[in-house]
Amino acid sequence: MSDRSAPAAVELPVWAVGVPPLGLAPLAGAVDADVCVVGLGGSGLSCIGELQRLGARVVAVDAAAVGGGAAGRNGGFLLAGIAAFHHEAADSHGRDRAVRAWRLTLEELERIVAETPAAVRRTGTLRIATDHEELADCEAQLAVMREDGLPVERYEGWEGRGLLFPRDGSFQPLLRCRQLAVQAIARGARLFEHTRALRIDENGVATPAGHVRAPITIVAVDGGLERVIPELAGRVRTVRLQMIGTAPATDVHYERPVYSRYGLDYWQQLTDGRIALGGFRDVGGDDEWTHDARPSEAVQRALEQCLRERVRTTAPITHRWAASVSYTTDGLPVVEQVRPGVWATGAYNGTGNVVGALCGRAIAQLAVSGRTELLL
Ligand SMILES: Cc1cc2nc3c(=O)[nH]c(=O)nc-3n(C[C@H](O)[C@H](O)[C@H](O)COP(=O)(O)OP(=O)(O)OC[C@H]3O[C@@H](n4cnc5c(N)ncnc54)[C@H](O)[C@@H]3O)c2cc1C
Repeated sequence: MSDRSAPAAVELPVWAVGVPPLGLAPLAGAVDADVCVVGLGGSGLSCIGELQRLGARVVAVDAAAVGGGAAGRNGGFLLAGIAAFHHEAADSHGRDRAVRAWRLTLEELERIVAETPAAVRRTGTLRIATDHEELADCEAQLAVMREDGLPVERYEGWEGRGLLFPRDGSFQPLLRCRQLAVQAIARGARLFEHTRALRIDENGVATPAGHVRAPITIVAVDGGLERVIPELAGRVRTVRLQMIGTAPATDVHYERPVYSRYGLDYWQQLTDGRIALGGFRDVGGDDEWTHDARPSEAVQRALEQCLRERVRTTAPITHRWAASVSYTTDGLPVVEQVRPGVWATGAYNGTGNVVGALCGRAIAQLAVSGRTELLL
């Protein structure tokens, strides 16, 4: 990869700077729980919090580490709504459902702020158009959102023209995961890293060196969900998303996170000046529909070009990384029972920071009490 004048970038998310791993032990032997949660990303950790509020004894396992998947390696946008823009969601899923999704996710965003205030910034976000056609699409979105009483403003500034979503936010995703894990452990949950779920059924979860005996298991996995639960393979497909991060940039100042080209590309400036930039999945073409979560040459080159020409900073690239998420055929997440005693949530179609936290709580309520008011 280019930028040859600078030292080689590390293959780590920029979010790992100053956030040490928790170093939790793997599971060895058998343990009992009311509920076993598989996956310690933002969704699994939100699920654990809700289960604890409902009084359940929780054991949770992760094949890697807390926040080791997309949950600790993403763009850090906290967006209201589902992945599709509001006017498109209204067309595809019905107006009432799209409005309900906005309201539920806005409430969830407030919850995220309250749970982990040190990891969150209330910045608002910008959707910036790249051409006249996209600007017209912004206007169409604005019209439907205004009719539905949702928070949005027309925007014109040095970043370009488009829309401002004043209630959105941004966060340090890895820090939030680690903080949620610490909170869960303090409340009595037992969390195990480097512990892959090998077999999941109504008796619990078998792992390489142990077994969680539990009548209920909740799988909270985004990328690779269809591998953990093969029944979902027809509806769920895994894709790789890539990012780069820079040293603190002194030649630009972005107050708000920006997304552009219909949400394909996105960047934000962190409090220490670093830029985190992601996108250009389309440049990689079909090669990006993969479970391989390592950065690729073509997408990284496109990100670098965008960093220089669009974001307009000369700051050296220090971090390059990728992670997996999954998409569904209908654009809605999976939140359902998949086998006797086994429930699954995931496949947030690229924007799971807020939706995943919400779905994690919804599936906890469904699995324990059989009902929830939180379904999108
Ligand atoms: C580059 C990138 C940028 C993104 N930007 C944004 C953004 O700005 N805003 C936004 O809302 N969303 C964004 N997303 C999407 C968002 O990151 C994800 O939807 C969300 O983080 C998913 O969290 P999760 O907890 O559901 O899943 P994951 O983070 O995938 O966590 C699942 C965990 O399960 C573990 N696991 C998997 N299989 C097993 C097994 N068999 N046994 C045990 N453990 C297992 C994994 O190790 C992982 O830690 C982005 C994603 C990427 C990759």
